[in-house]
Amino acid sequence: MTTTLDTAALEIRNVHKSFGAREVLKGVDLTVRPGDVIAILGPSGSGKSTLLRTINHLERPDLGYVAVHGELIGVEVRGARLHELSQRAVRHQRTRIGFVAQSFNLFPNLTARDNVAEPLVAHKRLAKPAARDRAVELLAEVGLGDRGDAYPRQLSGGQQQRVAIARAMALEPNLLLFDEPTSALDPELVGEVLSVIRRLADSGTTLVIVTHEIGFAREVADTVVFIDGGVIVEQGPPLQVLDNPQQARTREFLSKVL
Ligand code: ADP
Ligand code: MG
Repeated sequence: MTTTLDTAALEIRNVHKSFGAREVLKGVDLTVRPGDVIAILGPSGSGKSTLLRTINHLERPDLGYVAVHGELIGVEVRGARLHELSQRAVRHQRTRIGFVAQSFNLFPNLTARDNVAEPLVAHKRLAKPAARDRAVELLAEVGLGDRGDAYPRQLSGGQQQRVAIARAMALEPNLLLFDEPTSALDPELVGEVLSVIRRLADSGTTLVIVTHEIGFAREVADTVVFIDGGVIVEQGPPLQVLDNPQQARTREFLSKVL
């Protein structure tokens, strides 16, 4: 088994994760190079969110390891924990990983600007005025430079999700994870969120996106990963996995969603 720890933005090796008796991840291997865009597809319950949560260190692998930019987390081989970062190191690393969930998860009592400023105050120790100035710049990058004063309830779902993306960008993450970022949106609002993600992809940010938007995956992903039953069934360039899948399970899934 070769390792690319020094060069990979993200390396997942033989990750297993169970909840009780139920094994949800059954040995996942994935290498993501800096600047890559990875689209993860798969049926409901296949382990996609659990995989993202493991990358973000919200779940600890039972076996195997996750390394983000060469920093290992939770190395365990057959029950023997070989190496583990301190809680402090894990917290630090998590500040370098952005996460955007399906539901927008904004603070309802804070304006859009203060939602984006919050991580800058909490983690970068920026003074509030400086954090707010930066927040407005970040909001402008997602097309909301003039909506900083709005509260989440005053924004559409697509706008809220764009605020959530601006917030995830605030700490300049070197890895950005999206968990079905458009599946809670009305169809007419999906495009504005996808175009923000497309711009991030073009800017060279390393992205891992769980999505059911096949057309979007085909357009922006360097690698499409199809996961089913806690294993990666197939992975490769979009033209291969989406247009010429080798595995029957992939073909069956695609025939349902396309
Ligand atoms: P997906 O995102 O692909 O729909 P998930 O990763 O959310 O799948 O879930 C995979 C399986 O793991 C599901 O059966 C789910 O019920 C189970 N699961 C996820 N998180 C937990 C948890 N914290 N406790 C128990 N079971 C869980
Ligand atoms: Mg999920």
